[in-house]
Amino acid sequence: MEQKPHIAIFPSPGMGHLIPLVELAKLLALHHNFHITCIISVLGSPSKAMKEVLQALPTSIDHVFLPSVSSEDLEGLLPEVQTILTMTRSLPSLRDELKSTRFAAFIVDTFGMDALDVAKEFNISPYIFFLSNAFALSLVLNLPKLDETISGEYRDQPEPLKLPGCIPIHGRDLAEPVQDRTSDWYKMFLRTTKRMRLAEGIMFNTFMEMEENAIKALLDEESKCLPLYPIGPIIQTGSSNQVKGSDCLRWLDNQPHGSVLFVCFGSGGTLSYEQTNELAFGLELSEQKFLWVVRTPNNESADAAYLSDQTLENNPLASLPEGFVERTKGQGLVVPSWAPQVQVLSHSSTGGFLSHCGWNSTLESIMQGIPLIAWPLFAEQRMNAVLLAEDLKVALRPKANEKGLVDREEIAKVVKGLMVGEEGKKVHSRMKDLKDAAEKALSAEGSSTKALTDLASHWTNQARF
Ligand code: UDP
Repeated sequence: MEQKPHIAIFPSPGMGHLIPLVELAKLLALHHNFHITCIISVLGSPSKAMKEVLQALPTSIDHVFLPSVSSEDLEGLLPEVQTILTMTRSLPSLRDELKSTRFAAFIVDTFGMDALDVAKEFNISPYIFFLSNAFALSLVLNLPKLDETISGEYRDQPEPLKLPGCIPIHGRDLAEPVQDRTSDWYKMFLRTTKRMRLAEGIMFNTFMEMEENAIKALLDEESKCLPLYPIGPIIQTGSSNQVKGSDCLRWLDNQPHGSVLFVCFGSGGTLSYEQTNELAFGLELSEQKFLWVVRTPNNESADAAYLSDQTLENNPLASLPEGFVERTKGQGLVVPSWAPQVQVLSHSSTGGFLSHCGWNSTLESIMQGIPLIAWPLFAEQRMNAVLLAEDLKVALRPKANEKGLVDREEIAKVVKGLMVGEEGKKVHSRMKDLKDAAEKALSAEGSSTKALTDLASHWTNQARF
């Protein structure tokens, strides 16, 4: 029997990255007949959610955990920096995995750029799966040029920045790593953007119909030296936490059609204590139904919980205002730390999503036609919020006050606006159109299917010779 061509996938630790890479693995295994090995670097020990996702994979996808890297000196560093260093420190064990098998291609996300060299050492073609949209990819690929031509902080530039084919954006809304050019994180990020050109191609998680101008501008600029493949939306297709989740799905079963606002800040986003308090009162004031995934607040950083195991968190509900849970019993449900988001979004009672605009969450909402309230926290989420609220107009964006806090009155106004207001109806209708466009992109003849098929055929041919 002819052996299937074999692909190695090296996702960074953290559910937000693992999920889309695993979904890409499923597409390649089930529709393009590849054998896939997911090679996972680990900081500490793998989370329960991570293990559940990996154990549920089809037989043509196997996985191996690399030995955990030393972590004592990583404590206190930004989660993104910890992630990059975890992947870099795992390179010797990655080398051991790659040397024993003949792989047709190697796929990594942007936190693992040092692994591109390791793949090349073994003559394996390295590819990147960039897990966000064309807007963010345009920033990343243009950053070395911007770094040379713009002096001072981007956030202090008087005029909005114009990336080719994209909506103009103010410097303060650009991705988080470029907000402080004196920081080590900026330097590390700039190095990452330069190294991306060592790949033989970049897949990105968007689709032509959503970002046509930005994608075409990127293809025009880059295609001679760096092939680009818009293959999205690639989203989670199974829940990682059925048991805990069933409570909230049962609760949704008893709510009216399209009446519930789902509130969730991704796999690790956190609000401050004061902001959590305002959100609670704002939801109550809105008088709209809600399902809120509550996480223990953190005053230091919005992504402090990103690499932790959410299912182990102890009683985040204790941080809610006194009496809130009892007072809102008929109106809402609060769930500690984690909910089966895809199932919640696909439930007929869900009518809106207050989201941190993580790109996976955004695509999951688009695929269900659920309009958004954009509440960006970190990474490239402010760019996503600009794209969603100002360009595609499928989201409403609440305004923060002069202290940087979104107060309860503003929250109540925006929640009502989305769920029962006239503005909400228009946003909803545009989101339905976007859902249809996404489905078209993924259909047999669709733009994203074609882009992935082209690349898969290239790998299959390469494996033959
Ligand atoms: N997620 C989930 N339940 C939760 C929180 C998150 O299933 O309670 C999933 C969500 O469906 C998405 C991923 O975790 O697939 C979050 O990815 P995203 O890019 O939105 O945000 P990040 O976690 O990277 O900040």
